[in-house]
Amino acid sequence: MCLFCKIVNKEINANIELENENFLAFHDINPKAPTHLLAIPKIHVDSFNEVSPETMTGMTEFIQELVKQVGIDKSGYRVITNVGDNGGQEVKHLHFHVLGGAKLTWGHFSDADPKDYL
Ligand code: AMP
Repeated sequence: MCLFCKIVNKEINANIELENENFLAFHDINPKAPTHLLAIPKIHVDSFNEVSPETMTGMTEFIQELVKQVGIDKSGYRVITNVGDNGGQEVKHLHFHVLGGAKLTWGHFSDADPKDYL
């Protein structure tokens, strides 16, 4: 069973912020912003490549509720899902990073110069 499935099953502790029948949100153990949450479907989905439109509909509503609950909906935030090796996905269970609580920079995504790939 994968790490995030164990969190869903409460076999591993996490700092849970919001939960409903199908989704779970908990605080990232290694936060990259003052607010750094991970929103996941309870069913195992490897990555965004495999997710169904139905799950994404529920995920959208869940993240909208989550950002209101933690008070970053008005100040702003970023939603990221990493996919595969180039995306930097470490945990192979679909998760959306929700980052906020401070002005976020835009520039830490790659050391590669996009001009080198034109
Ligand atoms: P990614 O690199 O997109 O796969 O992101 C995985 C994220 O999971 C990282 O930001 C980790 O800090 C976070 N993480 C790993 N283990 C745990 C855990 N037990 N509880 C909370 N967050 C975790």
